[in-house]
Amino acid sequence: AARVAVRDLVVRFGSTTAVDGLDLDLEPGSFTALLGPSGCGKSTTLAVLAGLQRPDAGSVRIDDVDVLGSPPEHRPVGLVLQKPLLFPHLDVARNVGFGLRMAGASRAHERAEVRDMLRRVRLDDLGARRPHELSGGQEQRVSLARALLRRPRVLLLDEPFSQLDPELRDDMRGLVRRLHDELGVTTLFVTHDRDEAVDVADRVVVLDEGRVVGAGTPEEVYTRP
Ligand code: ADP
Ligand code: ADP
Repeated sequence: AARVAVRDLVVRFGSTTAVDGLDLDLEPGSFTALLGPSGCGKSTTLAVLAGLQRPDAGSVRIDDVDVLGSPPEHRPVGLVLQKPLLFPHLDVARNVGFGLRMAGASRAHERAEVRDMLRRVRLDDLGARRPHELSGGQEQRVSLARALLRRPRVLLLDEPFSQLDPELRDDMRGLVRRLHDELGVTTLFVTHDRDEAVDVADRVVVLDEGRVVGAGTPEEVYTRP
């Protein structure tokens, strides 16, 4: 698990300031929810951490290494998005193994790792299915397995379950919690739903208009007016 330190982060899109001087610290192995209304800069912050968005100012350090110069594939980061974006023509096992394959892993190593991760997300028997044969919850579990396959030290989740039924959402939150505990990965979970943030995380950071306006344990944030 890694320590993450974000300082004075600024991201502008034309005249819109999406992230406006944001500071964020994630302790190694912690589970933090990034909470705030739509448009407050949550996704943009995650995109910067993942290396998909270049900031206008600020620094991002993972275990004291400045990662802003390194491309997404060289960061020890796994990303799960609201929509899983699986390759429709590849089966589940190939989707999950894609990153390892691109990194030049042997077929045997890829298979072993994919099998282990599919078991962890309870999809043991679905490796040969195509994405269109999966339910929404199964698709998100494939997406989780893919994000975790290369054993990232940081896991980023951007509203991963917002398109699922409430009951399934509870179930998936439990799964993410368990994977976090098993793998010890520093986790940042983006949501606009306060109940979800309080339920899943040990620490909640509240954003508004691109800035941190509050942080604390779920109890502290929940009892604040
Ligand atoms: P959140 O994830 O909290 O809903 P975002 O990070 O998606 O917020 O967006 C923050 C602000 O930046 C919003 O005003 C949004 O419209 C704007 N924004 C985000 N991405 C882009 C983009 N690619 N181009 C222009 N504006 C953007
Ligand atoms: P190909 O001939 O396209 O290389 P294989 O014959 O190696 O495919 O794959 C046969 C079966 O093994 C497929 O049904 C596929 O679902 C499964 N499979 C492929 N890759 C993996 C993997 N990384 N882990 C587990 N099963 C896999």
